[in-house]
Amino acid sequence: MYVGIVGAGISGLLAGLNLSRIALVDIYERAKDVGARKHCTGIVSLEAISRIKARKFIESCFNELVFFIGNVEVRFYSSKYFACRISREAHEKYLANELRSSGCNLKLRSYVLSVENIGKKYCIKYLSNGVLNKRCYDYVIIAEGYPNKLSNSLGFRPKIEVFRGLQYRLYLLKALPKELLGKLMIHYGLLGTSDFSWVVPLNRREVLVGLISSLDGYVAIKLLDIITNRFMKVLGTSYTCKELIGGIALRGYCREFCIGNSFSIGDANAMVKSLSCGGLYPISIAVEALTRVITKKDYELANKLIRYLRSNYLVYRIISNYLVPLCRSLHRKVVIELKIDSSMFDNYFLILRKHLPVLGMIHLRRRP
Ligand SMILES: Cc1cc2nc3c(=O)[nH]c(=O)nc-3n(C[C@H](O)[C@H](O)[C@H](O)COP(=O)(O)OP(=O)(O)OC[C@H]3O[C@@H](n4cnc5c(N)ncnc54)[C@H](O)[C@@H]3O)c2cc1C
Repeated sequence: MYVGIVGAGISGLLAGLNLSRIALVDIYERAKDVGARKHCTGIVSLEAISRIKARKFIESCFNELVFFIGNVEVRFYSSKYFACRISREAHEKYLANELRSSGCNLKLRSYVLSVENIGKKYCIKYLSNGVLNKRCYDYVIIAEGYPNKLSNSLGFRPKIEVFRGLQYRLYLLKALPKELLGKLMIHYGLLGTSDFSWVVPLNRREVLVGLISSLDGYVAIKLLDIITNRFMKVLGTSYTCKELIGGIALRGYCREFCIGNSFSIGDANAMVKSLSCGGLYPISIAVEALTRVITKKDYELANKLIRYLRSNYLVYRIISNYLVPLCRSLHRKVVIELKIDSSMFDNYFLILRKHLPVLGMIHLRRRP
């Protein structure tokens, strides 16, 4: 069985590694190396870590998550860690090495121009060193990220909203207290209803401050500056220098997992947790589903993932359309404290279902 994969981001690399046990795999990547993109924060749930083979690349762990929405502060906490930050660059380089030693053919500097379905085969036309080539496969996996041109050409029609994701790496003037190292902080709807910004401690002297927003260019950077100053106040420090990195962040959900023997996974098919735009958790499930569909024609996990992503998008819509305006209209400060376990980090729907009816009765209390 021959499998062609377009894109050697995390989706393509993981899919290749999983499938290399049962098929001959070629991966096409237009860049000259893997792991070169540095925009991703690398936050992933503990549950997904082993599925994406990233245990060795954990750099920090978190057991507290604080959401600031208008005048409401929601604190999720646990006695155990529920999320981690991994080094995305090192992880992707490791996956690429594993792939090579499992016999996969990782074709760097190979730009795929088109994928055509001819009879039962899928033919990939690609440019490598200025030469046009063509190869045909039994299965094709599109993991091209965004823009999702090839995925569209094969008929995949995900619901996609495109945002700008910007991030500063900040070097701090004063070391952070130790107790802040396990804490993630998020501002939701600071300016509009859908912007999402975060501060992630890397160590006592460095933090990442990021923003997902529909604003573009200079205005988005200005907003990131405002957010950075707010976070610095909360952390009780300031920074000496900063480095800006950025990329495209998506919200939405996929409608199909496969069409015939073609698959579209990751950002190419809007496989993201819509609230945070996080792709690693859905990707970790998609690559498992892929192997099950190809080997056993078992679609259950794939269908579950599609339902999960749609419900996640619904939660994002409920929060941005109703909860953000409601929280912003409150005149007094309220603090909500919720104990969670690791499964809830990936399932906001579970949190809403469990806690929404009782919010304000059990956990709501006035800030002193
Ligand atoms: C600022 C920011 C922070 C983020 N933080 C998090 C986070 O903390 N946690 C989380 O879970 N997610 C996060 N994400 C989202 C996460 O980064 C993405 O969901 C994930 O990287 C998508 O991986 P992918 O492999 O699907 O796509 P990509 O990483 O985009 O990989 C696609 C690959 O395909 C290649 N390619 C494209 N077209 C072609 C072609 N025609 N021929 C050959 N090669 C091609 C590209 O060069 C690229 O290497 C963040 C995103 C942003 C913008």
